[in-house]
Amino acid sequence: MDVVVHCQELPLAGQTILAHSSSEFCGGKGANQAVAASLAGGEVLMIGAVGGDAFADRLIDNLNTHSVVCESVSRCVDQASGLAVIAVDSRGQNLIMVVAGANSSVTPERVRAAESIIRESDCLMVQLEIPIESVLEGIRVARSHGVRVILDPAPAPTVFPTALLEVDFICPNETEATALTGLPVTTVEQAKAAAIRLAEMGAKNVAITMGEKGTLLHHEGQSTMVPAVQVNAIETTAAGDAFAGALAVRWAQTGDLLDAVVFANTAGAIAASRNGAQDSIATYEEILQAGNQET
Ligand code: ADP
Repeated sequence: MDVVVHCQELPLAGQTILAHSSSEFCGGKGANQAVAASLAGGEVLMIGAVGGDAFADRLIDNLNTHSVVCESVSRCVDQASGLAVIAVDSRGQNLIMVVAGANSSVTPERVRAAESIIRESDCLMVQLEIPIESVLEGIRVARSHGVRVILDPAPAPTVFPTALLEVDFICPNETEATALTGLPVTTVEQAKAAAIRLAEMGAKNVAITMGEKGTLLHHEGQSTMVPAVQVNAIETTAAGDAFAGALAVRWAQTGDLLDAVVFANTAGAIAASRNGAQDSIATYEEILQAGNQET
C-alpha cells in the first residue's frame, strides 16, 4: 500500500509539520505488474503475501477487481502489509520509506508450494520486493519446468548472486542497469555496453528501459534501440511496471520479442501520460490502438 502525503516543504529530522493532504493507493511492484499483465490481456496468478492489517483486504480486493487470481497470496496475520510512505513537497521532491512487512514472509518454501501454478504458466515474472532467496527459488522452479522467466531487477540490488541473472529476459531501467553492471548508463551507446555485459552475466535477452528515450533491446547478439512513443508525460510512476506486464503478455502471445517491446513501450508511454500508478495502466485495446499494432 502506498500512503502519499502532500506537504509544502519536506520535514527535517525532529520537525513536525502540517501537511495538505494524504491519499492511499494499492501498489507494490509485483501487484502493479500483475495488474498491468491482466489489463494487457493476460491470465494472471499472483504469488505473494499481505498482512493482518486493514490494508490487506483492500489489496486483495484490488487484485481481484483486476481479475488477478490470489489463491497463492498468503495472509500473515502477525505482520503488516508491505507499505511505502511517500512524502511529496510542492516542488515534487519526495522522501520515501518502504517497509517490507508481510513481503518478507514470502519464503522459498512458499514459492515451492506454488510450483504447480508456475509449471502451468507461460511465464514467471519476478521483482525484488521479496527476499532474494525466494526470487532465486522461483527462477529455479520455473527453469526446471522450462517456463520462461522475466526479471524486473527493482529495487536495484547492491549485492546479488550470479544465478539471479540467469533468466530469459531482464528489464532494468538505467539506474538498475548501472547497479547490476557497475557501468554508467545514460547514453544509448552506454546502454548497449551494459546490455552486452548483462548478457555475458547470464541473461538471455535484455531490455534497458530509458524513459522518454525508449528501450534498448539486446536479443540474439543484436542491439536495437526501440524509440519511445511520444507523449505528454505527466507522471511516470508505473511506466516500468506497465512495460513489464505488457511485455510478458505480448511475448507469450506472439513469440516475437521485438514486437513485444514495441507493445510494451506503448504501455509505458500511456502510463507516463496519465496520473497515478495502477490507475494509469492501459488495457490491451488501448495499447494496440495507441501503437497502431495488430492483434
Ligand atoms: P522505470 O519506471 O522502471 O524507471 P522507465 O521510466 O524507463 O522505467 O519507463 C519504462 C518504459 O516506459 C520506457 O522504456 C518507455 O518505453 C516508456 N516511457 C517511460 N517514460 C516515458 C515518457 N516520458 N515518454 C514516453 N515513453 C515513456
